[in-house]
Amino acid sequence: MMQPPCKKCLLSELNDSDIKKEIMNMVGKIPDKDKVGADTYKSRLDVCRQCDDLIEGTCLKCGCYVELRAIMKRSKCPGKKWK
Ligand code: SF4
Repeated sequence: MMQPPCKKCLLSELNDSDIKKEIMNMVGKIPDKDKVGADTYKSRLDVCRQCDDLIEGTCLKCGCYVELRAIMKRSKCPGKKWK
């Protein structure tokens, strides 16, 4: 039986999958100068984790994988929820 999609889950919290590996690989390749610090990254993802628009690591407002979107300095939350 298929599992229902996990609401309020980040990719890092899901079982291994090709997309998870690919996104984490992409996160690792972003130059440090373009990334937010660890505290900001965590705080952004904490907000996403509480958001009704998060499903299986994807933001329903923009279609992005939030772990990729949240790491970049220039990114904004489409719902204006990040500080
Ligand atoms: S709307 Fe903002 S807080 Fe909610 S999942 Fe999307 S990026 Fe995260």
